[in-house]
Amino acid sequence: MYRSHNCGELRTSQSNTEVTLSGWVQGVRDKGFMIYVDLRDRYGITQLYFDEERTEKALMEKASKLGREFVIQVKGTVIDRASKNPNIPTGEIEVLVSELNILNNSLVPPFTIEDKTDGGDDLRMKYRYLDIRRNPVKESLIFRAKVTQAVRNYLSNEDFIEVETPYLIKSTPEGARDFVVPSRMNEGEFYALPQSPQTFKQLLMVGGMDKYFQIVKCFRDEDLRADRQPEFTQIDCEMAFVEQEDILNTFEGLTRHLLKEVNGVEIEKFPRLLYDDAMRLYGNDKPDIRFGMEFGELNEVTQHKDFGVFNSAELVVGIAVPGGNSYTRKEIDKLIDWVKRPQVGALGMIYSRCNEDGSFKSSVDKFFDQDDLAKWAEVTGAKTGDLVVVLSGETNKVRAQLSALRMELAERLGLRDPKEFAPLWVIDFPLLELDEETGHYHAMHHPFTSPKPGQIELLDTRPGDVKANAYDLVLNGNEIGGGSIRIHDKATQATMLKHLGFSEEDAKAQFGFLMDAFEYGAPPHGGIAFGLDRLVAILGGQETIRDFIAFPKNNSGRDVMIDAPAPINDEQLQELHLKLDL
Ligand code: ASP
Repeated sequence: MYRSHNCGELRTSQSNTEVTLSGWVQGVRDKGFMIYVDLRDRYGITQLYFDEERTEKALMEKASKLGREFVIQVKGTVIDRASKNPNIPTGEIEVLVSELNILNNSLVPPFTIEDKTDGGDDLRMKYRYLDIRRNPVKESLIFRAKVTQAVRNYLSNEDFIEVETPYLIKSTPEGARDFVVPSRMNEGEFYALPQSPQTFKQLLMVGGMDKYFQIVKCFRDEDLRADRQPEFTQIDCEMAFVEQEDILNTFEGLTRHLLKEVNGVEIEKFPRLLYDDAMRLYGNDKPDIRFGMEFGELNEVTQHKDFGVFNSAELVVGIAVPGGNSYTRKEIDKLIDWVKRPQVGALGMIYSRCNEDGSFKSSVDKFFDQDDLAKWAEVTGAKTGDLVVVLSGETNKVRAQLSALRMELAERLGLRDPKEFAPLWVIDFPLLELDEETGHYHAMHHPFTSPKPGQIELLDTRPGDVKANAYDLVLNGNEIGGGSIRIHDKATQATMLKHLGFSEEDAKAQFGFLMDAFEYGAPPHGGIAFGLDRLVAILGGQETIRDFIAFPKNNSGRDVMIDAPAPINDEQLQELHLKLDL
């Protein structure tokens, strides 16, 4: 028996009992006549005690040679501590050791296994198994398990069936590049790893499973932006005989359950925002509504004067910065530099101070009088003491720029409290999105999303205006889930693919299996997928997803611990009928 108790378990109620513990040596404090060892496992830390008077000499000597991260087993007696440690649950006791077995030695770890470690990112990724011993990573993984458990409980109670779908498949169109796997048995042919189980879950609905879910890995070969992973996990769901309302209610229920179970937070009905309104009010389809600072469109109240910059702009739009009138000129200049950075890309920023005496002072006083500026304040909702900041230009660009500024200012003003949760649905997304580079439309969600009833005719004349039965669930400025009601008849699916530029042959080659299935009684259906990694991080009050993934990849998509990806040998290449051309 390696242990009778774990290292987080013992209390004074067990005093004077004999116990056996196993774990890692967190640290040794050797005072010569007394030795203290902190013994650690997943459950906590227990102090081991050796002293000259009560411990045999050989045992004292053995204990003095213990190093950090040695794996040991001890037998001993639980005793009350002379000086208690109120900071740990086992702080009232220690174990007076009578037997010590060294189960394994350890090299000196390359960084300290402490909550605040001295190890940099790269080093900790290389020795991830040591990093996992640290509380912040360990707790994050345990937290993730708690979330997935709550997901399974909720969905199983709602009669969802967990079904596994294959990983070796054919390309799924979720808008990214596929990871491909060469087939040895089928010369010159490749599988693609699923970007999501989209088509399979739809086929499960055709198969009559009615309610499906899966906690599943998805793979997308995208250029890695910060905090993205090439393989990530979705809570993937699909339901038959449902309308949008059914899906929103079911998954609002799931999200509410998670917030309550995991965070103890109760939230009433989630607000719903039309996509168009989200863009108009926040410049963003995943608005953070923990704070206000809504956009005020100022074209009408600015374009009657001689200020050319505004007059030539498609959109003039501002926000009120709470308390922003206290910014010094220098601080405002820094803000202007911030919006001009290439990452944001604004050409400049106009501002108007809302003075305590009710007057205004703007950077364009030459063009706008007090009445004009009062209207700016009214439209943006600015109060005395606030600062109105205004950007102008082409609508989409300016919205993105002001949205970035809004988030930055909110961050600086401490308005993005990770302990506060503000979920909402964004609904009625456009069906199609114009690719500025190619001039072609592509599916904003994916090609299986259904247009709003009666709008399919618009596809020919005003494709950009067609709205979809598509929705996103947004939490604290992050898209945590997205889905749609699907097309479930062959003709509509064929029309949709045609508008996306697929020839009939291409459509058949790529999605023939789905369209064929639609000819055998496909029920109306729809679904959603949540990004689990991000969801867990947000519920855990963290910005980055990495600590919630046991073995993450770095920013170049590498696993630096196992050193992947890596070349394969000539024999393997030959077997796969592959020649490299590097
Ligand atoms: N497959 C979609 C995605 O990965 C989600 C869905 O439509 O259910 O975004």
